[in-house]
Amino acid sequence: MFEQAKYQYLKQTASSSFQPKAALIDMDGVLFDSMPHHAYCWTKLFRSLGFSFEEKEAYMHEGRTGKATLEILYRRELQRDPSDEEVKELYGRKAEMFDNMPAAPIMKDADALLDCIRDAGMQRILVTGSGQTKLFDRLNEAFPGHFNENSMVTAFDVKQGKPFPEPYLMGLKKAGVAANEAIVIENAPLGVQAGRAAGIFTIAVNTGLLEDEVLLDAGCNLLFHNMSELKAAWPEIIKAIQL
Ligand code: MG
Repeated sequence: MFEQAKYQYLKQTASSSFQPKAALIDMDGVLFDSMPHHAYCWTKLFRSLGFSFEEKEAYMHEGRTGKATLEILYRRELQRDPSDEEVKELYGRKAEMFDNMPAAPIMKDADALLDCIRDAGMQRILVTGSGQTKLFDRLNEAFPGHFNENSMVTAFDVKQGKPFPEPYLMGLKKAGVAANEAIVIENAPLGVQAGRAAGIFTIAVNTGLLEDEVLLDAGCNLLFHNMSELKAAWPEIIKAIQL
């Protein structure tokens, strides 16, 4: 199964080799079980504005910058773009709500998987659409020794967030590797699209509310249902990749 995914990737990208030296890892819904918190805050914010919005929709927007999400909702509900002031005020409100919620739990086996990635000799680069500084502070505490400011791409670094390839292209640059020398680990459909648009082998972990088909349609190369499943399969994935 994993070998097949590898050959499919080589064919799709017309690459002659696939030798991953870095894992580009999303944060929300991958390292932290924070998506229920984000979905709750977005829903509360948009409903306070009189917008129609279901929690599940937050999972479809996951990975976009806050600004891009606000623009989409404003255009749909008010047929106009939000002003810079509105973006600042509303994203500030959402971030404050998030900060006042209990800390999001660490995703089960995320730390063990990061250790496996390190033990396979691969760099770990964080690539997130988030601008939630509180979670960044928690990274070092939750996953000591895995990330530092030179190995992170955040909402503050990119012009065009996911689903555009820019965050992952920037991740490749930080790692100093080519697209066929990396893997992406993502939970969101827009994140999977971004990884694939950057030409990278993309592993999806479906930790949220969406159907598997949404992630498969976004183009993931492999799909797991949680980090424990991915961690259990890791030795076989590495074996297949190195063939
Ligand atoms: Mg995510």
